[in-house]
Amino acid sequence: MNKVALITGGSRGIGAATALLAASQGWSVAINYVRHAHAAEALARQIRDAGGKAITIQADVSVEADVITMFETLDHELGRLTALVNNAGVVDHASRVDQMIGDRLRRMFSINVLGSFYCAREAVRRMSTKYGGEGGSIVNVSSAASRLGSPGEYVDYAASKGAIDVLTIGLAKEVASEGIRVNAVRPGFIETEIHASGGRPNRVSDLTPSVPMGRGGTAEEVAESIVWLMSDASPFTTMSFLEISGGR
Ligand code: NAP
Repeated sequence: MNKVALITGGSRGIGAATALLAASQGWSVAINYVRHAHAAEALARQIRDAGGKAITIQADVSVEADVITMFETLDHELGRLTALVNNAGVVDHASRVDQMIGDRLRRMFSINVLGSFYCAREAVRRMSTKYGGEGGSIVNVSSAASRLGSPGEYVDYAASKGAIDVLTIGLAKEVASEGIRVNAVRPGFIETEIHASGGRPNRVSDLTPSVPMGRGGTAEEVAESIVWLMSDASPFTTMSFLEISGGR
């Protein structure tokens, strides 16, 4: 069977590691990005040079029309979708809730929550047996923040991931009888560029003392769990959460 995956935010970090690993296991991958076309194209080239199949699709997941066009492009270029990884996400600079302005909150919830809903909706319309599909898998990238709350840093981000957790639970039950499994991973401190985007490039090394395993994780370590949840190797696993946080 042709295995086709869409990985939102696949140009860098956890999404890029997931695209690489999935492609090495025979998945055709659509690598979504919003701004870094070069990174996405370089990754797709790397996959194709290794004999895999990859395309790139620019889309801002917080823009509904972009998401609709992205899925239509995928239908056309790769065929029937079998897995969605809702990975695109952002943080912001450290702030207390009493200092958070509306623009910040709207951006956070538009990308992390609305974006995941738009993509999940489009994926269900293609994968559900109710719509004539053949089933599939959705993996939502949540965060350890959803159970820790991120006080003094970004409670808004943590709350957006809390919404992802509830999306995972509700959607998993909603489509379980339609051939679709819905699961989530909750990474802890993972070495990617997301921390620099929040103004703290050394965040992982600064905070490792709070990790029982005494180190941060790698994007590749998260990708292993995501690809397992995407695959036929986890056929009876739905509505589950994998903690990838070194015991934190
Ligand atoms: P990253 O290195 O900053 O990469 C973010 C990715 O998301 C990039 O591919 C970026 O595309 C894309 N993106 C951002 N906004 C987007 C939008 N509006 N529409 C489409 N794509 C967008 O982040 P990461 O650390 O790999 O994080 C990936 C996911 O893991 C996020 O959901 C994050 O919350 C979660 N997570 C990360 C950690 C961690 O410690 N790293 C921990 C827990 C959870 P461009 O390249 O075009 O900018």
